[in-house]
Amino acid sequence: MKILVMKFGGTSVGNAEALRQSATIVKKYLPQWDRVVVVVSAMSGVTDMLLKSAQSAASGDERTYQETIAELRSRQAGEIAALFYKSSRHAQLQATIDKYIEDLNAFCHSVYIIGEVTPRGLDMIASLGERMNARIFAALLNEYEVKSSAVDATELIVTDNTFQDAVPLMAETREKVKKNLGPLLEKGVTPVVTGFIGATREGITTTLGRGGSDYTASILGDCLDAAEVWTWTDVDGVMTADPRVVPDALVIPELSFNEVGELAYFGAKVLHPKTIRPIIERSIPLWVKNTFNPDFPGTRISQERASVPGKVTAVTTIKQLSLVTVEGRGMLGVPGIAARTFAAVARAGASVLMISQASSEQSICFLIPMQAVGRVIQSLEQEMALELSRCDIDRIWAQNDVVIVTVIGAGLRQTPGVSALVFGALGKAGINVIAIAQGSSEYSISLVVESGNADEAVRQIHREAILNGS
Ligand code: ASP
Ligand code: MG
Repeated sequence: MKILVMKFGGTSVGNAEALRQSATIVKKYLPQWDRVVVVVSAMSGVTDMLLKSAQSAASGDERTYQETIAELRSRQAGEIAALFYKSSRHAQLQATIDKYIEDLNAFCHSVYIIGEVTPRGLDMIASLGERMNARIFAALLNEYEVKSSAVDATELIVTDNTFQDAVPLMAETREKVKKNLGPLLEKGVTPVVTGFIGATREGITTTLGRGGSDYTASILGDCLDAAEVWTWTDVDGVMTADPRVVPDALVIPELSFNEVGELAYFGAKVLHPKTIRPIIERSIPLWVKNTFNPDFPGTRISQERASVPGKVTAVTTIKQLSLVTVEGRGMLGVPGIAARTFAAVARAGASVLMISQASSEQSICFLIPMQAVGRVIQSLEQEMALELSRCDIDRIWAQNDVVIVTVIGAGLRQTPGVSALVFGALGKAGINVIAIAQGSSEYSISLVVESGNADEAVRQIHREAILNGS
């Protein structure tokens, strides 16, 4: 059976017009596949509103939580009315949605009484956006004469109990998908599955992390052995750079899984970073497409893209970082300094984004999110107190507000001349590079610049290495 999984992101299902457009897309492609499985996000902004209502209830702000819920209800009722005002389905659908709003009210009320909300409670509340939208979308497909029904992913995706960032247990998930989605597919029904959510073995609702609906789509793609997964969003595909920084950025027609791995990691907000994990092993191609420009092909992400030597595919940044340096002549040849350094960083709860060590061993530098810098320096000073007192380590210090610029491309490393192109572009523009790391993944080179130079660095590299260099 040739199955297509299609995921619609928040803006693609964010109002009546977008919902109509997305339903039209499903109806249009349905005849080309044996079955289509739809995954939907909450309406854009709804997850934020749900979390806001929970958090304001927890902080004792009754008025804000009640107003937020009222606003949410009226927004959804407005879109539902716009879609269904002539339909016999209207009253029934609105009653279903009202039931969820009642649940939300009850959850928030108990949060308000207790004065606290746990991650588990937040997941329960955050899950309502997708639950409501799956009902709306399925009703709309039925209205379009596509036989459809809403399915809660709590009945499909089994996760651990890391609330807010749950990890799917794939073997159990596969079984549940077969058991609970299989019969619908056999009957020719197009299921509309809630993105973003899952449940523990005990049935307690979890979420896969913000933006997790992409991940839902690829998990289902894997479990159903789908032929392809398409994620519908509001841009034409994955871009060579952030178009707000580089106005002549281009859509990338084809990317390898490895390249997109680097891109997702480095903050290009196209796909949830874990999305490609489940589909890599089965080599299921993933397309990123634009709901509002549906005839444009978009970006195809797959295993088999031939690595084009030397070709730089994209340039991207991570901002708001600090470069921490541990330096001292007494570090030379002393084993364990690096291990202790990073253990101290881990104790401070900071994740390290890039590392570079001078071969003289007299300094180690690494990048961490800027908001963690105080904790990290303190933790390092404690760890190295003895070395500091003996002057084996002279200094532990940070340069704040720096940016990692990452240049991504399959086959970058084997290709002489790419670094020259990249650093030449920066040299010509007089931009100082503070630190460099060749991505050990072979798909990227990262360099650090001051935040004031970051956008210009991206523009220069884009011009020299992507527009001219290919
Ligand atoms: N609705 C969820 C969020 O806003 C998941 C998603 O849209 O992918 O994070
Ligand atoms: Mg998203």
